[in-house]
Order: sequence, then C-alpha cells, then structure tokens
Amino acid sequence: MISLSSMMGLKDRIDEIDKELLHLVYKRWELVREADQNISPNMGYTSMDSWTRFVNDFSDTDRAKAIKHFMTECGNFKWESNNGVETQQRTMLYSREYQPENTVVKVNGISIGDGSFSFIMGPCAVESEEQVYQVADKLKKKGVRFLRGGAYKPRTSPYDFQGLGLEGLKILAKVARRKGMSVVTEIMCEEQLSAALPFVDVIQVGSRNMHNFPFLKALGRTDKPILLKRGLSATIEEFKLAAEYILLEGNANVILCERGIRTFETATRNTLDISAVPILLQETHLPVIVDVTHSTGRKDLLAAAAKASIAIGAVGVMAEVHPNPSAALSDAKQQMNFNELDLFMKDIHDYMYSKV
Ligand code: PEP
Ligand code: MN
Repeated sequence: MISLSSMMGLKDRIDEIDKELLHLVYKRWELVREADQNISPNMGYTSMDSWTRFVNDFSDTDRAKAIKHFMTECGNFKWESNNGVETQQRTMLYSREYQPENTVVKVNGISIGDGSFSFIMGPCAVESEEQVYQVADKLKKKGVRFLRGGAYKPRTSPYDFQGLGLEGLKILAKVARRKGMSVVTEIMCEEQLSAALPFVDVIQVGSRNMHNFPFLKALGRTDKPILLKRGLSATIEEFKLAAEYILLEGNANVILCERGIRTFETATRNTLDISAVPILLQETHLPVIVDVTHSTGRKDLLAAAAKASIAIGAVGVMAEVHPNPSAALSDAKQQMNFNELDLFMKDIHDYMYSKV
C-alpha cells in the first residue's frame, strides 16, 4: 500500500511534468501558429503568462484535456521533403488523414453515412401546403425520411418563380413535422439564415453557391447539418475545399452531393460525374450522396443513375417528386409523378435486395 506522503510526492512530480508539458505544448502551438495564421487563437490565451496562470488552476483531467487540445490544434500539419527542403503541408480537415473513420451525420435520430442508404425526396419547389402534403404523404409510405423542397429558389432567370420564401419553409416544416420527416432545403444567403433555422433540419447549399465563401463560413458557425452541392463547374478539389470552409469554422456535419457538372454534352441536363463519388469517399471522410434529378435532368435515367450511385458507394440519393409535374412552377420536365416514383422505388429496392 502506497503511503500518503509518497502519494503526495508522486502528485507533485506529476504536477511538475504537466507544467513542463503545457509549457512546451504552448510553445509548439505558438510556432505552428506563426507558420499558419489559420490555427485558431486558442481560447483567447495569447501570452505564455496568461496561459500559465490559467493552467495552474487546472485539475489533473483538465490539464490532460488541455494538452490534447493543443496537440490537436497544432498537429494539423505535416512537413514534407521537397527536393531536400522541408516544406509545410497542411492536413485538410476533410481528409482521411485527419479523420480515418467515416463521418456519420445525425438528423433527428437518423444517421447518414452509417452504412444505411438515405432517400432525400420532394418537389423542386414548395408551391402550396396541399402540394407538399400530397408528396410527403406518398414519400412517407415509401419509407422516405428526408423531405426536400425549395422555398428560396436559385433561378437562372429573375423572371421565373423565385419560391415562396419563409412562408414556403414554414409549410415544408409543418408538413414534415406532421409526417415525422426531416426538412432538407436550400438557404441562399446569410441574411436568410436566422429566420430559417427553426424550420430546417439540413441546410442545402445550392450548386450556384458552392463558391460563396462568406456564406460557407457562416454555415460553419451553425450546428445544423449541411448538404453541400458541387458547383456547376467545380473540380473535385474545389468541392473539397468548399467543404473545408465549413469544417474549419467548427461544423463537422457536412454531406457532399454530386449533382452533375457542366460539360459539352447536351443529351443530359448536366453530366453525372459518377467517379467523383468513390474519389470523394477515398479522399474525404464525409458522406457522399448523388442528386439523380439535377444531374441527368431526365426521368428515364433516374433509376439507372440511382443504381449506379449505390453500386459505386454513395450513401444516399436525392430526387424530385411532384403530384402533377407538368404543372410544376420549376423543373417541370424532370420531376417524377407518383406512378413514376412507385416504379423508381421498386427498381431500387429490387436492385438492393438482389445485392444481398
Ligand atoms: C435543388 O436541388 O433544388 C437545386 C436547385 O439544385 P442545384 O443547386 O444542384 O442546381
Ligand atoms: Mn429542381
């Protein structure tokens, strides 16, 4: 049995080592910060003095936590030899190097990226409560848990239907709550954020907004899951860096959505870059889904594109459904009616079942 006096001696020595460690870790953090201004200003402790005064009051556990925190902050780095010259190479927060395991995004108790497959479906735009209700009712019966719908619509022409705005969001949220579904909807700018937040479960960043860096930063400061769509002409590298903007501000709940890119091909609305899916899964730890509607823009290709997405590793698909597509106020040609939805879901389920 260890005596009280030797116990005290041990405690003193541990305290001493902790102080030295904290001192060294702080010094290391200062140097790394000099090399990289993006490292966060660490709990506001800007000088060694204020830091030392602060840590003296720490309990053992808190000291251990503080050391870990500092090491994480300044461990976000690697040095690479470039022709014999050591250069600094940043480890991106989206990378597998930073986090080997998959990010699982939880939305109202439902996980995206945990090995299950998610369907995010609904009309292109919210047009009325009746329209959203009909779609949600149908989708719920099919087991779909994420209800999408645009209230703020990014339209190419300013003369086209711009969406119902906040009123549309309220309709979407009301119907989704009634049906026990989660709301996925696009918010277009920071000014819309605070009013929209109570009605949204997953914030969609539209393709046209992927390069809106101040907006991405603002989203990074919220704690809502973000569904980030690939820019119309964004490379995979640019797409990953857009995600980095959100992650860097502290929001770890980012879902990537491949939605087709602009190419010379005119047979489809966009070109579904299907190989982006496994590349993103290899190079990031974030869940990747595919928007089969906006990528193909063709109802005859939706099921094939969804099956290809499943086969290649996507964790979910997004698709548009409308009770009467030909009368839709946006994307009339590409939305599925209810019969088409039945066939689509049957095709997907048969395919999934046949894989087991
Ligand atoms: C949408 O999903 O409603 C949409 C406008 O898609 P994208 O931003 O991919 O064009
Ligand atoms: Mn649409």
